Amino acid sequence: PASLVTVLFHLGEMATATQSLDEDTFALLGSELGYDVQVVSPEDEDRELLESFSIDLEAEELDDVEHLQSRPPVVTVMGHVDHGKTKLLDAIRSTDVVDTEHGGITQHIGAYQVHVTHDDESRLITFIDTPGHEAFTAMRARGAQVTDIAILVVAADDGVMPQTVEAINHAQAADVPIVVAVNKVDKPEANPGKIRAQLTEYGLVAEEYGGDVMFVDVSAKQRQGINDLLEAVLLTADAALNLTANPDSLARGVAIEANLDRGRGSVATMLVQRGTLRVGDAIVAGSSHGRVRAMFDEWGEVVNEAGPSRPVQVLGLTSVPRAGDGFLVAEDDRTARQIADKRETAERQAQLARRRKRVSLEDFDKVLKEGKVDTLNLIIKGDVSGAVEALEDSLLKIDVGDEVQLRIIHRGVGAITQNDVNLATVDNAVIIGFNVRPAEQVARLAEDEGVEIKYYSVIYSALEEVEAAMKGMLKPIY
Ligand code: GDP
Repeated sequence: PASLVTVLFHLGEMATATQSLDEDTFALLGSELGYDVQVVSPEDEDRELLESFSIDLEAEELDDVEHLQSRPPVVTVMGHVDHGKTKLLDAIRSTDVVDTEHGGITQHIGAYQVHVTHDDESRLITFIDTPGHEAFTAMRARGAQVTDIAILVVAADDGVMPQTVEAINHAQAADVPIVVAVNKVDKPEANPGKIRAQLTEYGLVAEEYGGDVMFVDVSAKQRQGINDLLEAVLLTADAALNLTANPDSLARGVAIEANLDRGRGSVATMLVQRGTLRVGDAIVAGSSHGRVRAMFDEWGEVVNEAGPSRPVQVLGLTSVPRAGDGFLVAEDDRTARQIADKRETAERQAQLARRRKRVSLEDFDKVLKEGKVDTLNLIIKGDVSGAVEALEDSLLKIDVGDEVQLRIIHRGVGAITQNDVNLATVDNAVIIGFNVRPAEQVARLAEDEGVEIKYYSVIYSALEEVEAAMKGMLKPIY
């Protein structure tokens, strides 16, 4: 390390031994020392790791082609708080006729499936039942693409709100088609036409206006329009997506929720994306592994095998995977364990490297000068809504010229949550905590992800520091 630091010094780069460097600097360093430097992304590294165990995901995909069968769409419900996401997910769940067989009692496992009769055919739709973009961003932060279609819930008595726009941005960034559920149409003050008009500004043009987005008026409360909404999801899936998977192969998929249960050990809900998952399979999810001891569906019933788009609760992993961790079935227990162990080591190293990599107020001017960013993304959390709004207003009024922009990508009242950190990870943002702090677990996640959290209790100090950062005047404190 000492000689690397020396060479870097001569190249004009003041670096410490634990600092992250960019790709160009590495290349320069390599050529200076007579080495050919290759930068390998974590994804490539993982692919190589799997290939060393004779698992070639790309080749498998090619093999799959002739065995493809259609699979149900996987849907996430997003929208502004209080617009009825939870109510809608409940209403959808209770439409299922198969429901009655189970006495209508579902367990929350993170996802569920419903049957829909469409063109005299019984089809399935899978719903991720954590409403909002929390689950969505948590998974995207891990690089997992789970959702095929997003239902955007907008209350007809309220209209487009900040989180409506965030949800649209998230769905569009992930290239996920949107179906709009115009909710609360039972209310006398509901104005569904206004919602359609408002959303055209965000590129969502209703079919009846000549666009290609399906809008369905619903009342989650009175359970009206739910079937039309489900049909709209199927129509959108059939028109815009070709959803297929090979069910006859070793299973692959994503962990969508996981926790440690006192009696049952690690309990993880897995969404199968390819192949069929069976009891007894040796499985790796992220850096945890095990053998599938038992599987349950959303009714708490035993499941022996689960095909594409089916969510199942899986027992038998030796530790708890994270939401968004990919899982795969390995040939045997030993392979599963070795893959998990190697990933854990790689993950630990990557964490160390990440710690100092994301944007912070102190180094914002540096990355700005390097032309890597021109926008400072902020997330504001505060103890009372008045303070959050006041802070947001004043921040947006900071005059910093044309070259730099300040964007508040999320704000809210309450403690800094895991979702805030995930959002900051995805959008490379700094979190501002105004009289609020994160739980210890969340603080640790932020540290692992290299997300900076700044704490203030006086609006003026927050303003001063953000302004200084944007003007490149904030000097690091050592
Ligand atoms: P979320 O924050 O988006 O999950 O919203 P909720 O599902 O918790 O709903 C927020 C509030 O709106 C609750 O009081 C619901 O009872 C109410 N609500 C939801 N859907 C409807 C609807 O279709 N009509 C009416 N009148 N109220 C609704």
